[in-house]
Amino acid sequence: MTCIFCRIARGEVPSQVVYQDEEIFAFRDVNPQAPTHVLIIPRKHIAGLQELSPDDSALVARLILAAPRIAEAEDIAARGYRLVANMGPDAGQVVQHLHFHLLGGRPLRALC
Ligand code: AMP
Repeated sequence: MTCIFCRIARGEVPSQVVYQDEEIFAFRDVNPQAPTHVLIIPRKHIAGLQELSPDDSALVARLILAAPRIAEAEDIAARGYRLVANMGPDAGQVVQHLHFHLLGGRPLRALC
């Protein structure tokens, strides 16, 4: 079965798009955990952090560099935000397509 995030990035499954370019796609999480909860994904299918290769270095940089731009557009940059990538079952990764959660708009509990 085709990956749900691949389908979202192709526009086959509707989403609330926040940002897109030729390599990356950002959309609102369907089950937001904060007032701003955006998922930033590569259009290319990569199952998770563990599947990244050195060839993906520029793509990873683009994914991370999208976060401050989106945070600015969402008006959460000044107060701060969190960028999270869950990897594997212990971290609670549910969708096997690399994604960064951008969370903000309220104080976030410390993770560690
Ligand atoms: P993770 O637990 O890190 O794999 O996070 C997966 C995230 O994807 C969860 O926060 C879900 O709410 C979100 N999600 C799953 N399906 C969709 C969808 N169709 N549109 C938007 N967000 C989704």
